[in-house]
Amino acid sequence: MPDLTQLTLTQVRQQLADKSRSAAEVTEAALTRISATEPKIQALLSIQAEEARAQAQAMDASGPDAAKPLWGVPLVVKDVLATKGVPTTCGSKILENFRPVYDATAVARLKEAGAIILAKANMDEFAMGSTTENSAYFATRNPWDTSRVPGGSSGGSGATVAACQCYGALGTDTGGSIRLPASFCGIVGLKPSYGRVSRFGMVAYGSSLDQIGPMTRSVEDAARILQVIAGHDERDSTSVNAPVPDYVAALSERADLKGLTIGLPAEYWDKGLSPEVAEACGAAVKQAEALGAKTVPVRLKLSEYAIATYYIIAVAEASSNLARFDGVRYGLRDKDAQSLIEMYVKSRTKGFGEEVQRRIILGTYVLSSGYYDAYYRKAAQVRRLIRQDFEAALNQCDVIMGPVCPTTAFKVGEMSDDPLQMYLMDIFTISTNLAGLPGMSLPVGLGRDSGMPVGLQLTGRAFDEARMLQVAGVLEKNVPATGLPKL
Ligand code: GLN
Repeated sequence: MPDLTQLTLTQVRQQLADKSRSAAEVTEAALTRISATEPKIQALLSIQAEEARAQAQAMDASGPDAAKPLWGVPLVVKDVLATKGVPTTCGSKILENFRPVYDATAVARLKEAGAIILAKANMDEFAMGSTTENSAYFATRNPWDTSRVPGGSSGGSGATVAACQCYGALGTDTGGSIRLPASFCGIVGLKPSYGRVSRFGMVAYGSSLDQIGPMTRSVEDAARILQVIAGHDERDSTSVNAPVPDYVAALSERADLKGLTIGLPAEYWDKGLSPEVAEACGAAVKQAEALGAKTVPVRLKLSEYAIATYYIIAVAEASSNLARFDGVRYGLRDKDAQSLIEMYVKSRTKGFGEEVQRRIILGTYVLSSGYYDAYYRKAAQVRRLIRQDFEAALNQCDVIMGPVCPTTAFKVGEMSDDPLQMYLMDIFTISTNLAGLPGMSLPVGLGRDSGMPVGLQLTGRAFDEARMLQVAGVLEKNVPATGLPKL
């Protein structure tokens, strides 16, 4: 029998529902695990231990509620999501003392479903980064090897789930920030279609790209969290009013992949992959074929422009979104400034880290008159073509497969001095956001050379998370088990 903290969300919720475990017992086990492992991985920016204990006790007093699908399940939330009365820093000094007066819709829905929010997860400042080294507080470590990064920007969420500090976490993904840390930490991460999950209460980075999604230790766990957070919200005008299918039921509909077609883009498989990533992901595709799937080559010929396009659109939107942090309304305000302008400048200079400042400057530049047409407008046009490429590819197949990242998790500090090299890590993930499609990272075993987890990326048709989950669910049972880190 695995340790209580090592159960999946699906397993623990069953034990809570049939009363073989109490919410207090499960919560206490998670908090003990946090105390034991946090000094090594530093995944969490704040821990709400007392609130969690009190909530668990109150829930036990009234007993399990079958109408609440996450009753008593301890979860962690990325610190970019507003949590009522609880610090929400976005990994930034500028929001050091910020406590929102409301919950993000995704958080409110978790709570309504009976989840217990244990802690807020570390992240790259304002979700800008791929390693969690850009957090203004501390760098999170990979639970598989603490000399390595956990990926980012939702690295705290990835590490806390892999380290069994909780049963699942919310991350956010603007260009890969759920899928990359899921891949590096050997867990499942799902970025929903743009508009599937309300962004209300998520501090915006690139508003046309951002989505909230689950990070979990199994595909079914991801389906269960997605089920709760998905669906229209009148407080987010970009959330789509489309029916939310029963994702968990969809998973049980399939035991093989017969009748499904998987698209393999040469652009994702042919160049620049480390041998161990090519091998593990390639073996998973072979396994999919053995399970009855047909594979076809597809073209994503504009892939080479994806990084440039993304890093214009994302920074442009960021420069506008981050204008609200002016020292007046939230967080840090410089005390010595003599004028209003000086107060803005000093507060922002002190409050924002280097990478955030770099992106605000870049974003302001690409939006400024004279450069707007050359950069921002052009990027928006290329984005449309990239989306059309994906639509054409997904007309030929049900799901696209490729690696999440060219490499497994690298060493802390290895790339932090070279922003361009770091941006290249996003090569396979950012197009999914540009196209608004659902994407997932599925662990497919450990790399032969590094011994670190390898993630396979699945990309689905818009609003067809169910099909993507089905494929992932079948594969999960048939690829080499990644297991859990020995921490
Ligand atoms: N690494 C990418 C960036 O820094 C993606 C981040 C994200 O998805 N939030 O912009």
